[in-house]
Amino acid sequence: MLRKLAAAYRISDGRNFRLDGVDPGDTDGSSLDKKEAKALLRQGIDRLAELQDKLYAQDRWAVLAIFQAMDAAGKDSAIKHVMSGVNPTGCDVQSFKPPSEEELDHDFLWRAMRRLPERGRIGIFNRSYYEDVLVVRVHPEWLERQKIPEPLKTPRIWEERFEDINAVERYLARNGVVILKFFLHVSMDEQRKRFLKRLDNPEKNWKFSTADIEDRRHWDDYMRAYEEAIRHTATAHAPWYVVPADHKWFTRLVLVSALIDTLEALDLAYPSVSAETRALLAEAREALERE
Ligand code: ATP
Ligand code: MG
Repeated sequence: MLRKLAAAYRISDGRNFRLDGVDPGDTDGSSLDKKEAKALLRQGIDRLAELQDKLYAQDRWAVLAIFQAMDAAGKDSAIKHVMSGVNPTGCDVQSFKPPSEEELDHDFLWRAMRRLPERGRIGIFNRSYYEDVLVVRVHPEWLERQKIPEPLKTPRIWEERFEDINAVERYLARNGVVILKFFLHVSMDEQRKRFLKRLDNPEKNWKFSTADIEDRRHWDDYMRAYEEAIRHTATAHAPWYVVPADHKWFTRLVLVSALIDTLEALDLAYPSVSAETRALLAEAREALERE
């Protein structure tokens, strides 16, 4: 089931994309029970670990996986589960919160460009520069704080940001950074249920913020902003995956499947050892055995 599961949710040409074409409750017609889903995820995680080991050893490609979602869509727990098998040395997670004073003194891509993954590694962006065409679009007061010179603050600014994002992603792709972008698409009703759970469970209370309720009021604006962003920035070299997120087990399977498909399409291999090095290794073995 894992093979090619993600392909149905992959958008590599956004021009005709419509968000209402994706059902947050979709499970691709399958209804696995908890145990079955867990076993399948385990398989996927093991395969991902093998691929990551080669990615790291080969040290040529870098992988950038961007996660965007409304609150409580399961971003954090999906990252935790899907990456649970990979070697922490070859992976890191960067979270993007509201920008600091220093960050606001730079162009909007600056803070993300400083946190890109090195070759051989998987970099996870938990939110990203896409916030600058999402939350900033929905809450224009953030645009004010960005200190853009007045003549440059035109109605074309979003269009221009999409262009700049596409240009920078193409540049990264040309340099060996493989980009995947995930939008975890949760329904408003499922978000409500998850918020209520956070309120019911004292150990989850910390996750709840009143700003999250405020953002629910802007749900339609957010969905429009996501749709526009995906339309303009889904490309062959940096596709979006619009992942149904009302069922966490399914979300995780799609994520792991997308990562596996992407890594399998690369020419990953352990570096080969030359005859000369092999001779040196044989000598080293002899020396160790003589000790
Ligand atoms: P959780 O699901 O635990 O709430 P989170 O990813 O929402 O995780 P938060 O601590 O809530 O984490 O911080 C992220 C907040 O920062 C989001 O509300 C997001 O919209 C905001 N943010 C990120 N980038 C920007 C930006 N460039 N401008 C304004 N706000 C931003
Ligand atoms: Mg939050």
